[in-house]
Amino acid sequence: MAQENNMEKVISLAKRRGFIYQGSEIYGGLAGTWDYGPLGVALKNNLKTLWWQMFVEEREDMYGVDAAILMNQNVWKASGHVGGFSDPLVECSKCHHRFRADHLTDLKKCPDCGGALGDVRQFNMMFKTHVGAAEDEGAVSYLRPETAQGMFVNFKNIIDSFHPTLPFGLAQIGKAFRNEIAPRDFLFRAREFEQMEIEYFVRPNDWERFFEEFRQLMWQWVERIGLRRDRVYELEVSAEDRAHYSKRTIDFEFEYPFGRKELYGLAYRTDYDLGAHQKGSGASLEYFDEATKEKFVPHVIEPSLGVDRTVLAILTDAYTEDELGGEPRSFLKLSPAIAPVTVAVFPLLKNKPPLVEKAREVYALLREAKKTAGGRARIAFDDNGNIGKRYRRQDEIGTPWCVTIDFQTLEDETVTLRDRDSGNQERLKISELSGRLLG
Ligand code: ATP
Repeated sequence: MAQENNMEKVISLAKRRGFIYQGSEIYGGLAGTWDYGPLGVALKNNLKTLWWQMFVEEREDMYGVDAAILMNQNVWKASGHVGGFSDPLVECSKCHHRFRADHLTDLKKCPDCGGALGDVRQFNMMFKTHVGAAEDEGAVSYLRPETAQGMFVNFKNIIDSFHPTLPFGLAQIGKAFRNEIAPRDFLFRAREFEQMEIEYFVRPNDWERFFEEFRQLMWQWVERIGLRRDRVYELEVSAEDRAHYSKRTIDFEFEYPFGRKELYGLAYRTDYDLGAHQKGSGASLEYFDEATKEKFVPHVIEPSLGVDRTVLAILTDAYTEDELGGEPRSFLKLSPAIAPVTVAVFPLLKNKPPLVEKAREVYALLREAKKTAGGRARIAFDDNGNIGKRYRRQDEIGTPWCVTIDFQTLEDETVTLRDRDSGNQERLKISELSGRLLG
């Protein structure tokens, strides 16, 4: 099935099955916000845990932080966001709809009503708020539009507490907020979203080597979460399209149902941010090299990954339609590494106590085995509706394996193991299950 037609189906599946709902839905929604339901949270948490594992825990040179979302307004003045974090906005004089000027081909005519468009002006995308009871300029703060600055302002703290040697990085996962002029395409362009970012500090002359290292690492990440490699493309961003702080940027684009668009960014931010904060705060953000006795402001490589765009890429990539047992089905071909449920355990019939008891026993056994193995598999119990419906429901939420306990189980301690993608079933011993599924 062509991917182009899948967007509406994915949105509807995500809502029906409890992955993602429209934000504030019963009040008519709030544009650009999305609420994650139980399965969406599970998927998102799996992604974040995997990222943290791969980019922080599996390395010796990474320091995790979780900085406050509200920061001193001077952070955003120094970083350039107060002055420059804006998109070009045009408004229709007739219907008053607003558009991003760089998304329009005709800057004269409103694409919605044909009315005349006004002049292009710069619209700052930071959400402004006031801290404390006073509403004067001194109390202004912003919801952070990126997690990056939370790391730059903690650079000195990490140096003082841990004395790391270059190269090393700070890593953070957290919410970011942008008052996007036109939120659209489901999770793709939201006003509140999550980022997984690293600021990796290097000697100025080493930047190319580490830029390349992170580029490779991002491809490994793409594979690890099960995105098809041939749906992801690198785009070398030209000098005129790069952010003001960047000397080189590669966008990792994904083939979404609505076109090829940015999934992640990898940027060489030079010493722009630390330099700006050193100037803005008066604190020294230099690194002292013990070996050469040199002092300098390190340069930065930044891989920036959006959690929600990852979820969207994964859902649209995994959504599959086929025919099984002569009937059409739709399912999510999720990798076991990130699927909200890894194994679902069922009793064949709900109203036969010995079957239910045995199924509960197998369920408990797998959960226990998972704890001992220290693995991250997620085991579910399901006895709702008939067995065919349960398989379909698990297929739709992307569960790779289902284990069914039937009458034969009571006699010989074997169960059926069903594979999501092929629908094939095989019989195996209960004692073999954990080795097969949780290994
Ligand atoms: P775009 O050009 O699509 O607006 P950007 O270049 O402004 O994106 P960055 O500032 O590089 O994005 O942000 C880093 C990452 O954060 C992006 O690669 C993306 O994954 C995510 N991201 C940025 N803006 C949004 C948004 N409005 N909604 C969801 N994710 C976003």
